[in-house]
Amino acid sequence: MAKGRAIGIDLGTTYSCVAAWEEQNGRAEIIVNDQGNRTTPSFVAFTDTQRLIGDAAKNQAAFNPSNTIFDAKRLIGRKYKDPEIECDLNLWPFKVVPGADDKPMIKVNYKGQEKCLAAEEITSMILTKMKDIAGAYMGSSVENAVITVPAYFNDSQRKATKDASIIAGLNVIRIINEPTAAALAYGLQKRATFSGKRNVFIFDLGGGTFDVSLVTIEHEVFEVRATAGDTHLGGEDFDNRMVHHFVQEFKRKDRVDITGDPRALRRLRNECEKAKRTLSHANDTTIEIDALFQGIDFRFPITRARFEELNRDLFEKCMEIAQNCLDDAKMEKRELHDVVLVGGSSRVPKVQSLLEKFFERNDLCNSINPDEAVAYGAAIQAALLSESYSIVPSMVLVDVTPLSLGVQVKGDLMSVVIPRNTAIPVKMDGVYHTTKDNQSWMSLPVYEGERTKASENNLLDKFSFRGFLMLLEAILSMLCLNLIMMKGRLSSAEIKRMIEEAAVFREEDKKFKKIVEAKNALDYYIYRKERGLKDFNVSSKVSASQKEAILSAFTVGKTLLESEKHNEASVFEDYLKMLQNICQSIV
Ligand code: ADP
Ligand code: MG
Repeated sequence: MAKGRAIGIDLGTTYSCVAAWEEQNGRAEIIVNDQGNRTTPSFVAFTDTQRLIGDAAKNQAAFNPSNTIFDAKRLIGRKYKDPEIECDLNLWPFKVVPGADDKPMIKVNYKGQEKCLAAEEITSMILTKMKDIAGAYMGSSVENAVITVPAYFNDSQRKATKDASIIAGLNVIRIINEPTAAALAYGLQKRATFSGKRNVFIFDLGGGTFDVSLVTIEHEVFEVRATAGDTHLGGEDFDNRMVHHFVQEFKRKDRVDITGDPRALRRLRNECEKAKRTLSHANDTTIEIDALFQGIDFRFPITRARFEELNRDLFEKCMEIAQNCLDDAKMEKRELHDVVLVGGSSRVPKVQSLLEKFFERNDLCNSINPDEAVAYGAAIQAALLSESYSIVPSMVLVDVTPLSLGVQVKGDLMSVVIPRNTAIPVKMDGVYHTTKDNQSWMSLPVYEGERTKASENNLLDKFSFRGFLMLLEAILSMLCLNLIMMKGRLSSAEIKRMIEEAAVFREEDKKFKKIVEAKNALDYYIYRKERGLKDFNVSSKVSASQKEAILSAFTVGKTLLESEKHNEASVFEDYLKMLQNICQSIV
């Protein structure tokens, strides 16, 4: 059990959300950010003067596309060579380069200097923002958090997410799966109406990832029966299809190619995302962007039917994955009691109609907020794991391993020890024989994944093998004689360096904020006093020469404010004090 209060963070590809348990109300509360929004864009931007996170970063994306980073969740825990990343590389307006050990590194320009950042660092910045949002609401800083990840995240993606949390100064009390969190939220809100056992199908289609889970709720026990998904399928892909379509259309009609222009692409992408949302309630819309490229205006209509056609295979893929999940759970469609929609992209009408057809029902449940359910559930889990709350709902969660775990045996074959969708925690043994006489130990590479050829799966570690022990949160931990190597995860030295760097960033953000505040204070003072001199008849008491002296001091102040040279708050604070003294002594 964690000491102190704990929050739940839904760390999304496109939007993140934070929630906290409210004992007195018996429910979780979604915490609004400094802009008054309930979700925060998972964006980080770097400029010549500062670092921006969340809404502020997203809002300036079109002006600063190559230094506005999003989609870090699509990079985290993956190798640069990963084919899933390859197709994104061409579409991202920022630069990603291969780093040590083939780790993808994001290149940005911050305060005129080039910086290479790991996806863990960008993610840690978003987490820091979510932590601060919660801290501001709760009155003091909160360190304990339950963080959600897609059910289909593999071990290295989970570990990398955990590393990002450490860098952000969070104490991760548990990593839980997004659809499982949504099931907790749904269960809490609905279970009073349940009688007996309830089979709930969670369909979570977000911005970057797609997850489905089949959860059985019986009294306080929430048991995940099976889970399936695609960590690279979501609303961003629908946007990409639309962007691609319009790039072609623009080429055809106006004979211009905008693919080399990050700013034009960013503007087009923003409008495509908006159009996509419009098409969830309208049958057609028009995208209009003034002077998109070489002064040429962009104006193209799109219908809902066309949008659906562009994404047909992606929508169908969702249904296939839903079928896989049912198969794994060995359950028939008719045994399901509820189909719950989660994730912003579950609002797409075609997705809903395909689902209705697939499940042969027309009562899909959209009574829980698709953008907030995951954070809500994470907050429930956080309360259950924290000592600080005395009134918590009685809920027990039993989750499963999303991927099969096994070892590589002769001929590069994957020998599965723990099949996917096994309830955890679990302990299973596999018996493997030595190949020579008197061999005292053996090294076995451990993989996770569903391919028959072991090397095509995700290598976790090479172990001297004796047995497996799965811990909760599906992060594989093994009891073994000899740990030979640790793969894919940041070393403790790297984490330490990133924590130090994060502190530098924070310090710089603070300093920047202080400068802005000092400048605003000076600016406001000059503005107010200047008006005072004009509006009121102070001149009777102030001689012409004194007035002139004040006005010229104001002019110097304004020049100071406009100059880019000063990056110390004290310059502006001192000048303000001086002005105040002058004005006081005269008036
Ligand atoms: P994630 O958790 O992956 O960040 P979310 O669940 O927050 O994703 O969903 C964000 C995605 O949902 C974005 O791609 C957004 O464009 C999409 N979305 C939000 N509202 C709508 C809508 N009304 N119609 C279609 N797509 C939508
Ligand atoms: Mg999500």
